[in-house]
Amino acid sequence: MTVRVRLAPSPTGTLHIGTARTAVFNWLFARHHGGEFLLRIEDTDRERSRPEFTADILDGLAWLGLGWDAEPVIQSERIEAHRAAINQLLEAGLAYRCYASEAELEQMRERQKASGSAPRYDNRHRNLTPEQEQAFRSEGREAVVRFRIDDGATICWNDLVRGEMRWSGSDLGGDMVIARRAPADQVGDPLYNLVVVVDDAAMAISHVIRGEDHIANTAKQLLLYEALGLPLPVFAHTPLILNQEGRKLSKRDGVTSVGEFRAMGYTAEALVNYMTLLGWSPPEGMGERFTLKEAAEVFSFDRVNRAGARFDWDKLNWLNAQVLHDLSAAELRQALVPLWRAEGWQAPGSDESGAGSREAWELELAELLGPSLTTLRDGMEQARPFFERPELDAGASQQLDADGATAALTALLGQLDENGSLSAEQAQELLAGAAAAAAVKKGVLMKSLRAALLGSLKGPDLITTWRLLHASGEDRARLMLAVAQG
Ligand code: GLU
Repeated sequence: MTVRVRLAPSPTGTLHIGTARTAVFNWLFARHHGGEFLLRIEDTDRERSRPEFTADILDGLAWLGLGWDAEPVIQSERIEAHRAAINQLLEAGLAYRCYASEAELEQMRERQKASGSAPRYDNRHRNLTPEQEQAFRSEGREAVVRFRIDDGATICWNDLVRGEMRWSGSDLGGDMVIARRAPADQVGDPLYNLVVVVDDAAMAISHVIRGEDHIANTAKQLLLYEALGLPLPVFAHTPLILNQEGRKLSKRDGVTSVGEFRAMGYTAEALVNYMTLLGWSPPEGMGERFTLKEAAEVFSFDRVNRAGARFDWDKLNWLNAQVLHDLSAAELRQALVPLWRAEGWQAPGSDESGAGSREAWELELAELLGPSLTTLRDGMEQARPFFERPELDAGASQQLDADGATAALTALLGQLDENGSLSAEQAQELLAGAAAAAAVKKGVLMKSLRAALLGSLKGPDLITTWRLLHASGEDRARLMLAVAQG
């Protein structure tokens, strides 16, 4: 069998982490079997669907490296096929028009609530006589189309994640609406369960892989496959992503869209790696860090857990840091420069490449910050004092007030060559010379220099920091300020 799977997002919001994780499992399964990963944009909710959400979803999938194999199917363009399926069910007597008004249905639900029974449609219009139907029509009533669900039906399937599944028709809420309310001589807008079945069959989907919140839908959809005489796909229901409290991850948990993770400075590589681990355990010996391609080689649903997967920020941060630490200075520079530019920051140096160029300076800064980064955003925050003059924090102010600090910095300033580059050896010599001249320990001078340059006692390697700030003359400017304040 050719494996053909699909992701069927509704463009009613940006790409959600849950949808992206479903995409990951579909993609891995397709690639593992040399099959196809397809997309279907489920845009039939006309009020809530927006082209910009479709763009965000496609953009997010592409960014994550989850390429798809054909032009996405646009569900709203397939409405004729959906209507034809509804008509087929109506003609076969497997579906019927229900004329019950909203108010009547509400009354029915109230009564069920009062008697403590579960809400369900009581199938009241299942067997209307032609005369009864005529009477409703002449009242001008509109109708929905409902699909018959026998209470006695048993629905079974073998789920790739959850194993043997069994549902009773009586647990599906009564006959199901498959077309929205419309004038009784028409068929209204087709609804989710019906259109999914029609489209999955038309796209020859072999495996439907989606979140376990769709399990009850699967039971209903299986009845529709049977009624329409369509071949069945295999189903796999993946565990939900849970928050720290063990509840389904929702908007209230803050960050939930792929774009938000991206803006926070997570790399696509770390995020897909992490999403793969949300519900799937890699085989023994594989470790937790891998590429999508490596995961695809060994992916199977045997190793997908049934239990919900708790979102673990520490693990995501760990993976992201690993990815960033493994980048070359050139790759890191490439990732960071757009963030720096967005802040309006310009590196010193000439346009040409090579020594003394802007590019060489950026490369050196990227290399300096690299080892301490967890996210790319850290690479923006930590780069800030290299582009913007910092305020002195309390520790730095205190340091500059220490005995001998100002004298040593003044001695250093006196020896500092304004022009030309500053090599590491020259920097060391200057420090030794100034410390001796001011009769302070070199350590005191170094701490004071750091305070003057970065406004803080913490930061990356001091000599490199100094050399970078020397390139724009900022070292002199900041030393003079520090001396004046000290
Ligand atoms: N549009 C549905 C959703 O986003 C698709 C579910 C399915 O995969 O069938 O939940």
